[in-house]
Amino acid sequence: MTTRETDLLVLGSGIAGQTAATAAAEAGLDVILAEKTATLGGSTVMSGGWFAFSGTDEQAAQGEQDSAEDFRRDLWEVGSHRSDPALLDAYIEHQDEAYRWLKDHGVQFREIEISSGQSAKRSHNSAIIDVMAELHRQFEAAGGTTLREHRAVKLLTDADGAVTGARLQSPDGEVDVIARHGVVLATGGFSRGTELLGIFAPEQLAAIPFGGRGNTGDGLRMAWRLGADMADMSAVSGTYGSHPDTGDVHELLTAYYMGAIVVNRAGKRFMDESQDYKTLGRAVLDEQDGLGVQIFDATVRAKSHPGIPLKDMDMIEGLGHIHHADTLAELAELVGVDADALVATVERYNRVATDGVADEVGRESLCNGVGELTPIVQAPFYAYPAKSLMTTTYAGVKTTPEAQVVNVDGEVIDGLYAIGEVVGGFHGAAYMTGSSLGKGAVFGLQVARNTAGRAKASA
Ligand SMILES: Cc1cc2nc3c(=O)[nH]c(=O)nc-3n(C[C@H](O)[C@H](O)[C@H](O)COP(=O)(O)OP(=O)(O)OC[C@H]3O[C@@H](n4cnc5c(N)ncnc54)[C@H](O)[C@@H]3O)c2cc1C
Repeated sequence: MTTRETDLLVLGSGIAGQTAATAAAEAGLDVILAEKTATLGGSTVMSGGWFAFSGTDEQAAQGEQDSAEDFRRDLWEVGSHRSDPALLDAYIEHQDEAYRWLKDHGVQFREIEISSGQSAKRSHNSAIIDVMAELHRQFEAAGGTTLREHRAVKLLTDADGAVTGARLQSPDGEVDVIARHGVVLATGGFSRGTELLGIFAPEQLAAIPFGGRGNTGDGLRMAWRLGADMADMSAVSGTYGSHPDTGDVHELLTAYYMGAIVVNRAGKRFMDESQDYKTLGRAVLDEQDGLGVQIFDATVRAKSHPGIPLKDMDMIEGLGHIHHADTLAELAELVGVDADALVATVERYNRVATDGVADEVGRESLCNGVGELTPIVQAPFYAYPAKSLMTTTYAGVKTTPEAQVVNVDGEVIDGLYAIGEVVGGFHGAAYMTGSSLGKGAVFGLQVARNTAGRAKASA
């Protein structure tokens, strides 16, 4: 057993941990970033790279009407009023600081889009793999230390229960890292943690496992052991929709926000497709084979955006996962859907889009109240069979707005901070696109700034 000392120990190298580590190192702290796996980036580097911010240069350049109030209201609504208001307020208060910090660190937002849970184009897309590589480069340039294949297995505490460091397991043995100014849990969610999913959301084991290979919920377990409180554990849901044979490549497609409908094997619609995609992910699990087939026409197909996650039909067609045919009946045969029922379903939907009759599943817009429905009439017709993908869990330890972990009695556990997907209470019942990378950056930066402030005050 060896022992090391540092100012700040950050566990996990996704957007949350990397932001905290880079900003803390740049503020002059001695920082160790410990990562369980051999590669850095966790779920972050598998993600679509969308960050949710309002009031940005990109929105202004496109004349997009948005405001911090609308953003907060959307977060509150999509979470079914179950989010911790203090966490939402903290995000809104500090989002501009995080957005500017990312841009100052070389992040370029190449596209803005409206997506799950949003009432304005608020998702800002980045080349996330490059973003993470650059943030890590800047961390090491600022003197930070990276320990790959170092898995935190236990939080170390003093006699008063304050966290003083963590025990790490590596191929070379165990290391105790003593952290003078705190330990930051940034260990991500438990999308790969079948044991924890079995406890909190067993029905979600039917979704396709995904997310970072190291995301088995270690951070949650370590904090749990110290009595940490939890939130949103009953809201865990996969994201709709990814092909049943999806590999490690991100191939989620949201053609339904562009005008597709979703049908089951019986050719029937079963959910309002304009809702957030976690809610859709939950709904699809109840259908035969857990399958929902996105059905669209040439008009929607023409909206494909190559290279942009969630909208890249060209890439998915290249994988052989999108089918097409000249008629809906032929298309139905290709993907194993009842043909007569599909034709009838599309006819009914087209009357909703063109004549304004009430929709059978209550859909009124393309996405979350925004966008006119368009009829599915233009051949060829397309089908993308998709399931729920267990990308993220968005449930975990409770924190204060300053990211201090609190125990089941509502008291702060001194020395322990949590940021990113390991935290519960931010999203509530469902999820807005971009708010996870966004909160990783927002709260990661705040932890770094607050810790640097405390370190300076105590020097
Ligand atoms: C396919 C997909 C698409 C997505 N698209 C988007 C999107 O466009 N926008 C958005 O906002 N969100 C998106 N998300 C969600 C988002 O990517 C994650 O919620 C976010 O990246 C989590 O960041 P994090 O830093 O908390 O955790 P992660 O990025 O998962 O990093 C956690 C790290 O901690 C490590 N770790 C775990 N246990 C330990 C331990 N004991 N010791 C040391 N290290 C440990 C893990 O190995 C991992 O590297 C997507 C997710 C997926 C999977």
